[in-house]
Amino acid sequence: MAAGGAERGCGPGSGGVALLGLAPGAPRCPHGPALLFVKTSQGKEEGRRFYACSACRDRKDCNFFQWEDEKVSETRLAAREEYNRSHQPSFTHRQNVERYKDFVLLPLSKRRFCQECQQLLLPAEWEKHSDHQFLCDISTAQLKSPSQLLCPLENKKTNAQYLFADRSCQFLLDLIIDLGFRQVLSVGTPRLHEMIQSKASQEEDFRVRSLLLDIDFRYSQFYTEDEFCHYNMFNDYFFGGEAARETCRKFLYRDNGERVIMVTDPPFGGLVEALASSFKKLMAMWKETERRGHNNQEMPMFWIFPYFFESRILEFFPSFSMMDYQVDYDNHALYKHGKTGRRQSPVRIFTNLTPSMVVLPVEEGYRFCTICQRYISSGNQHCEICNSCTSKDGRRWKHCVLCKKCVKPSWFHCNNCNSCALQNHTCEKTDAGCFVCGKAGHKRSTCPSLSRTRRACKADKKAKAENSEESKYAVKRPIFSRKKVKNKKKKKKKRPDFAC
Ligand code: SAH
Ligand code: ZN
Ligand code: ZN
Ligand code: ZN
Ligand code: ZN
Repeated sequence: MAAGGAERGCGPGSGGVALLGLAPGAPRCPHGPALLFVKTSQGKEEGRRFYACSACRDRKDCNFFQWEDEKVSETRLAAREEYNRSHQPSFTHRQNVERYKDFVLLPLSKRRFCQECQQLLLPAEWEKHSDHQFLCDISTAQLKSPSQLLCPLENKKTNAQYLFADRSCQFLLDLIIDLGFRQVLSVGTPRLHEMIQSKASQEEDFRVRSLLLDIDFRYSQFYTEDEFCHYNMFNDYFFGGEAARETCRKFLYRDNGERVIMVTDPPFGGLVEALASSFKKLMAMWKETERRGHNNQEMPMFWIFPYFFESRILEFFPSFSMMDYQVDYDNHALYKHGKTGRRQSPVRIFTNLTPSMVVLPVEEGYRFCTICQRYISSGNQHCEICNSCTSKDGRRWKHCVLCKKCVKPSWFHCNNCNSCALQNHTCEKTDAGCFVCGKAGHKRSTCPSLSRTRRACKADKKAKAENSEESKYAVKRPIFSRKKVKNKKKKKKKRPDFAC
C-alpha cells in the first residue's frame, strides 16, 4: 500500500492519508525504514500517526504497520527482526556474482534458467527444481538481456514493471550520448542499463557506463556489485548497506570530467513526495563529490513520468520542465506505438536540462518552437494568447478566453462551473457551497481550508479524473486502481484505509 496513500486517499469528502516522510529512528520492514503517515480528514491532520512500508502499496506484499506512539515489546521487536532477516533473498549479491561466474563457464547445454524461481541454475541444483518449468541453452546474448529473460513483475500495485520499447530506449541513450554524458545512474531503468552494458561489452569505442539502482533483486544474478545496487527509491535505502551506498557515491564521483546524468522511471503509483525526497538525496550525494565547476548546479536528471503529474513534480523540482516526447513501452498495450494510428502514451521526460538542448526526433514529427525554445510534438500549436505551446497530451489544444488558458480539444466552457470541462461532466455547483467547508464562492478543489498538499493531491486527482484518456490507462496502470469494495469489508477496521 503505502506509497500511494496520500494521492489515493483523497476521494471527495472522504478522509485521506498524508505522507509525513522518513522519520529518524523509524521502524523497519524487509524494505528498509518505514514511512510515517497521518490520517487526514477534511484536509486536517487527524488521528494517530502511523508507519507503513515504503515500497509496497498492497498489504499482501508487505503488511508492515505500526502506530507512531505504539509501545512495541521486546519480543515483538525480536520477532520483527527475525522476520526481516528471513525475508531477505536466499542468495546474497556476492553469492550471485560467484554463481554467474560458474554459470558462464558451463557449456550451452548445461545452462538452465528456472522460470518459476526466476533463477539461473547450476547443474547441482537441477534436481531441486525438477518439477519447475525452465529454459535451456541460455545464450550469452540472453544473459546480456536479463530484462527479456526475467518475466516483468506484474503486481499491479507494488511493482509493475513496464519496459521501454526499443525505440524509446534507443532514443534516450542517443540523447544522453549527444548531450555529452558518459555516466548514467539508472534508477529503476533496467532496460536502459542493459542497453548500455551490452553496448559497452560489444563496441570497443563505446564509453558510456551505467549503475543500476533497483528494488528488483533478480538483477543481482546478472550484474556485479559495481553495476547493480539493490535499492528502494521510496526511502533512499541501499539494501547492501554502507558499502553499496559507497559504490553509488564512487560512481557519481569521477575526476576525469565524465558527466553524469540520472535517469529514473519510477512506478507511477508511487508517492511523488517520497520519490522527490530520495532523488534530492541522490542529487546531494552527487554534489558532495565537490568537483570543480559544479557551482550551484544540480545533478542532471531525466525523470520519466506521466504528464498529469507535471504540477506535482514542479512543486518539488521547480527547475524541471516537461518535454513533449512520448515514452513508449513494450509490455503495455496502451503505451505502444500501434500500427493502426498511434496510441498516445501519456508518459513524458521531466528534466532540469535546458529544454532547447533536448532534441526530439524529427522523423517522429517533433519540431522546434523558436518562441518557446523547445521541441514540441507535431500537434502542439503555439498559442498567441498564452504565448506558449500549450498541449500536454500531443493533441492540439484550444484557447478559452473565459478560462484565460488553453484546454483540451474535447472540452467546452461550462457557465455553471465557470471552467472548461468535458461536455458530459457533472457540474460542481459553487452556489450550493463548498463541499468541504460549506461556504459559498468556491469549489472544494480550491477550498482555503484544505492544506497545500491536499489541494495539490486534489488537483492531481481532478486532472486525472477529467481525462477520459487517462481513465483508459487506469485499467492497466496501478495508480488508478482502487480496492474493490468487496475487499474493503474484509479489512480490519482499526487501520487507516489507504485506498479510496
Ligand atoms: N521503463 C523502465 C522500467 C520501469 S518499471 C525500463 O524499461 O528500464 C519501474 C522500475 O522500477 C522496475 O524496474 C522496478 O523494479 C523498479 N522499482 C519499483 N519499485 C521500486 C522501488 N521501491 N525502489 C527501486 N526501484 C523500484
Ligand atoms: Zn515492506
Ligand atoms: Zn492559450
Ligand atoms: Zn473555459
Ligand atoms: Zn459544469
